[in-house]
Amino acid sequence: MPSFLVYRRMDIVFATHNQHKTEEARAIAGPNWHIRNLHDLACSEEIPETADTLIGNALQKARYVADHYHVDCFADDTGLEIEALDGRPGVYSARYAGEHCSFSDNVRKVLEEMKGVENRKACFKTVIALILDGETHTFEGRVDGHISTEPHGEGGFGYDPVFIPDGYTESFAELPPEVKNSISHRGAAMRKLMDFLKA
Ligand code: IMP
Repeated sequence: MPSFLVYRRMDIVFATHNQHKTEEARAIAGPNWHIRNLHDLACSEEIPETADTLIGNALQKARYVADHYHVDCFADDTGLEIEALDGRPGVYSARYAGEHCSFSDNVRKVLEEMKGVENRKACFKTVIALILDGETHTFEGRVDGHISTEPHGEGGFGYDPVFIPDGYTESFAELPPEVKNSISHRGAAMRKLMDFLKA
């Protein structure tokens, strides 16, 4: 028997076109994981995301990619829930300002709706659905914070410039990526996913 161990990088597909999310996932997963995304599969089609819950959308995306590309994969769905807006934008966070809106259109709409509102409590929730060897598993993560009155910072994506996590004075867009990853909704769900895969 050889007296050394052979390390193999584990391969898995993240069912997303979003390069920011892919980089976050790679940073959290570490060097033992080779995380490919939909660009790496040469998949340019829109993955259906028509459920009205985060878990429903995460499952729908993961199943679609597993069925069409025959790979083990995971998909996430994230929502920003703002207390004073009765949980909006929630599951509709991506297209809150309209069908083909940009991240800044969404941020503008939220800030407009929150003008003069005192209760600025909000949270991000992520659900990850994993399809491994045909079996489905789900993992959840959450971070609490509040919505600022104007955007701050250039980093991150989505609503990061207006989300200040509890315990910090900077927005997610101002915090270094490794700090965001260590406290974020997706970081928490990703670590649960990685613990499961390592086990
Ligand atoms: P998705 O469906 O998981 O891509 O997330 C829906 C929307 O939530 C995205 O289009 C972004 O606007 C927003 N979002 C998701 N994750 C984050 C994040 O980590 N920071 C800020 N916004 C996010």
